[in-house]
Amino acid sequence: MSNGLVNMRDQSFVLYEQIGIQKLFEKEQFADYSEDVVEMMRNEAEKMAVNVIVPTYAEGDKEGCHIDKDGQVRVPRCYHDAYKKFCQGGWLAPTKSPEVGGQGTPVVVASSCSEMFSAANFAFIMYPGLTLGAAGLIERFGTEELKNKYMYKMYSGEWGGTMCLTEPGAGSDVGALKTTAKRLPDGRYLITGTKSFISSGDQDLTPNIIHPVLARIEGDPPGTGGISIFIVPKYRVNDDGGIGEFNDVRVGNVEHKMGIKGSSTCTLNFGDEGKCIGELLGNERQGIRIMFHMMNEARLEVGVQGLGHASAALEHAVQYAKERIQSVPVWDMKNPDAKAVPIIMHPDVRRDLLWMKAYVEGIRAMNLFTAYCIDMAKVGDTPEERAKYQGFVELLTPVCKAYSSDMACLVTSKAIDVYGGYGYCQEYPVEQYMRDCKISCLYEGTNGIQALDLVGRKLGMNKGANVMNMMGEIDATIKKAKSHGDLAKYAAKLEEAYFAVVDLTMAFAALGKSSGFLIPILNASPYLDIFGDMLLGHFLLQGASIAREKLDGIFAARGADSIGKKRALVHTDPDVAFYEGKIAAAKFFAIEVLTSVKSKCEAIKLGEKTPIEMAIESFAA
Ligand SMILES: Cc1cc2nc3c(=O)[nH]c(=O)nc-3n(C[C@H](O)[C@H](O)[C@H](O)COP(=O)(O)OP(=O)(O)OC[C@H]3O[C@@H](n4cnc5c(N)ncnc54)[C@H](O)[C@@H]3O)c2cc1C
Repeated sequence: MSNGLVNMRDQSFVLYEQIGIQKLFEKEQFADYSEDVVEMMRNEAEKMAVNVIVPTYAEGDKEGCHIDKDGQVRVPRCYHDAYKKFCQGGWLAPTKSPEVGGQGTPVVVASSCSEMFSAANFAFIMYPGLTLGAAGLIERFGTEELKNKYMYKMYSGEWGGTMCLTEPGAGSDVGALKTTAKRLPDGRYLITGTKSFISSGDQDLTPNIIHPVLARIEGDPPGTGGISIFIVPKYRVNDDGGIGEFNDVRVGNVEHKMGIKGSSTCTLNFGDEGKCIGELLGNERQGIRIMFHMMNEARLEVGVQGLGHASAALEHAVQYAKERIQSVPVWDMKNPDAKAVPIIMHPDVRRDLLWMKAYVEGIRAMNLFTAYCIDMAKVGDTPEERAKYQGFVELLTPVCKAYSSDMACLVTSKAIDVYGGYGYCQEYPVEQYMRDCKISCLYEGTNGIQALDLVGRKLGMNKGANVMNMMGEIDATIKKAKSHGDLAKYAAKLEEAYFAVVDLTMAFAALGKSSGFLIPILNASPYLDIFGDMLLGHFLLQGASIAREKLDGIFAARGADSIGKKRALVHTDPDVAFYEGKIAAAKFFAIEVLTSVKSKCEAIKLGEKTPIEMAIESFAA
């Protein structure tokens, strides 16, 4: 039965049958893990998501966040109990080692749980999520003193954390920041400046909040190279570890937003009274390098956020389409006695649902595979194997972040279409999914910036070896699918898309070194979309080949040797229904999406430059 959030059967399929995370359990680092342990975790995560977090979803959206007269930000009241239970359940930092309060969980397993939490209420999950990211920086780059002072209390959820990069004049261009740090004689720094849009910037879930803040030490050079990072607590910490005096970090504003209303998004003023003290993390002028260490996992987490929204929207839409009775079937329209049927019987609705299913399952496989690569980059057997997986992480991260969030927004919009007018109203959750989902396209670097990262940095990284390795994986999928008679036609579509993308990528590489370098930059976003289409085609078809083999095994075991007998099993055997669904999604995606990849690549290769050649005056003349 659907939990209304995530198709657990499909998640199991991706984890065990497609990726094969069992390989991780053979590694020393994950020796405590087995399929049983992972299943226990996923079951507990499901209970936490469904029983504890979901009840905060609509209520948190309605109540939102506000600033009290005393300047303290209040989050939705229902978040308090859920936050306590979430932290007590050990969900804040499962991937961290037991020595610091974690459970050493593989990232891929934690990501599968994250999908459920994101689907349940992402606004809520941002509080522990940001704390995890901030504590992770202190763990990796902090001195023992910093770790003892802050990290343990953050990993347990006792204190909160944030990420303070953005300023009013420095969004995508972090290097333009104006926040300053002045050296003090005792080795600490006086911080002055304003940060905007800071998620969890202030809240009343925890008595202290620890802010990693990007700032420029007085006299350091402009641009990203001159930026350092500081740990700035809301309240200073006494020698005994207790909370001390206020550290002059004030909330200027809490944003009123389209979605994630339960997540406080704050303007923070550091040092209005000249009393804000920060401690350097790592070395001076290493701020950006340090921040980049948490980027891959943070960006993947945003991809999983998109996935969670899309997944919940799909689960609800399918359920609704089975229940909502409207209109007689098209083949019975002339029959005056015909009865109205559930809308899932109408071809257009079925098409919408399969479209949503294909994207959700493809995005799930892509994100979980990338999470698995993060694990393998750490525990692979040889340096070459670890490097190969790290290469996948680098290449796939901007695609997971941008493609997943962009497509998730479309999936949530499509869910509203399935609901009709009811989808637009607050009685059903799909309108909130769409509102909440949009932010995933914007923060952690806008999707436009992700596309530039893919085209400008990631394609050429490692002399193109990362792309070639990925293409090798896709090639194997094509060959395998071709060996399954009914999938060969669809494998040919993936092959056509694959050659077109290889061709365009090589054209970009040549243009990048010539006066035509603006073409790849101008087309970075469409390129990322096309690259994502190809990757999803690969993951879906890879899944379909596995499903084909499983089905053949089931049919043989059950003596289903005719089309009729096989069809009959779909209605009685849930595994048959599931695997048939996997194959249907892959076939549909290949025809619906992959067939247009080649023409999109050809269009880019025409080198059209109108958007940059037309006069700015002409845009709204
Ligand atoms: C709800 C919410 C929560 C947030 N949480 C945090 C947080 O916790 N911490 C934090 O530090 N920040 C946070 N942010 C800020 C977020 O990361 C920024 O909004 C984002 O990086 C974009 O910056 P900007 O809004 O200034 O847009 P701009 O940088 O002004 O960008 C506007 C548009 O121009 C494009 N653009 C800009 N530069 C280029 C370029 N060189 N080439 C091509 N296109 C370009 C962008 O892609 C975008 O489409 C949050 C924002 C929101 C709305």
